[in-house]
Amino acid sequence: MKILAIESSCDETAAAVVEDGRKVSSSVVNSQIAEHKIYGGVVPEIASRRHMENIVPVTQEALSQAGISLEEIDAVGVTAAPGLIGALLVGVNYAKGICMATGKPLIPVHHIRGHVAANYIASPELKPPFLCLIVSGGHSHIVEVLDYTRYRIVGYTHDDAAGEAFDKSARAMGFPYPGGIYIDQAAKRGDPGKYKLPKPRVEGSPYDFSFSGLKTAVINLLHNAQQKGEAVDRDSLAASFQQTICEILTDHLEKAAKELGYCVITAAGGVSANSGLRFCLEKMCRENGYSLHIPPLSLCGDNAAMVGAQAYFEFLAGNTAGFDLNASPSKNIETGFSLERPL
Ligand code: ATP
Ligand code: MG
Ligand code: FE
Repeated sequence: MKILAIESSCDETAAAVVEDGRKVSSSVVNSQIAEHKIYGGVVPEIASRRHMENIVPVTQEALSQAGISLEEIDAVGVTAAPGLIGALLVGVNYAKGICMATGKPLIPVHHIRGHVAANYIASPELKPPFLCLIVSGGHSHIVEVLDYTRYRIVGYTHDDAAGEAFDKSARAMGFPYPGGIYIDQAAKRGDPGKYKLPKPRVEGSPYDFSFSGLKTAVINLLHNAQQKGEAVDRDSLAASFQQTICEILTDHLEKAAKELGYCVITAAGGVSANSGLRFCLEKMCRENGYSLHIPPLSLCGDNAAMVGAQAYFEFLAGNTAGFDLNASPSKNIETGFSLERPL
């Protein structure tokens, strides 16, 4: 089954053609980062306008690279939640237009389910159940992936997401937006033991996360040094921050895997591109004899191939939508669009 997938939830306009949930025939990503960088973050209205301009050429390019016409596509998958509402509406409405014109089924996809599904592309043999660490710009979850469309959230963040903690700390350190990648690069040159940073815990919830205290500690450290006129070794601060957050993520995941009895571990989302996190996860899984799956860097950040992969499994589960489909800025991964609950 060949699915045309569309993604426009944030600042990437993306389209892909994916076969049977695993084989990527084409994947085109148009990133708006260069434009949002000027403002130090994503400006929602600019994002929506760029999606409007880019969505047709990006989709045409995906079809052309796959060597396929719209008529030969079997269904259209589209990210319908969560994300910036004005950005999501562009993709959802465009997908509806294609389905109306061609008569193909419309498959709404939950963006975070898509991030998880990037692993089905990277690891063709991977099947649920498994445990997944989801770390992206807006989410930090430990999730039991019980089946392709069934999830149970085991741990979540009470404040900042991991990507947010990276980006806000990076901003305080003077790196451009989005700062995760800059911290990753600087950390390679620094000493991770130089600065002692806190590892905040959520009382009574061993799998949950709280990163705002860690971010505040970085900001305070920089502020105090500035007031005293002391220099900060930025590379070492980046390395110390990265090591601390990676240890928190890995420790909680290890605890959940042991207590819930999972030996297949996956990671998903933009922060799973982090070299320090990949190293920590590999080490933890090696020590415990777990098998680990992490998507290649090209599938960690936002893309439509992952949406096409998940759309296939949603279709098999009967989760298609009518033309009354609406986008939703926030939706739980457990709910998804499975039960066709009102949005
Ligand atoms: P969500 O998926 O939660 O809706 P999003 O789509 O904006 O949010 P992603 O595209 O999955 O998030 O990931 C973007 C995040 O990943 C940003 O916070 C970015 O800084 C972070 N990131 C990307 N590369 C790295 C890296 N090498 N190290 C750390 N963080 C990284
Ligand atoms: Mg993005
Ligand atoms: Fe994302």
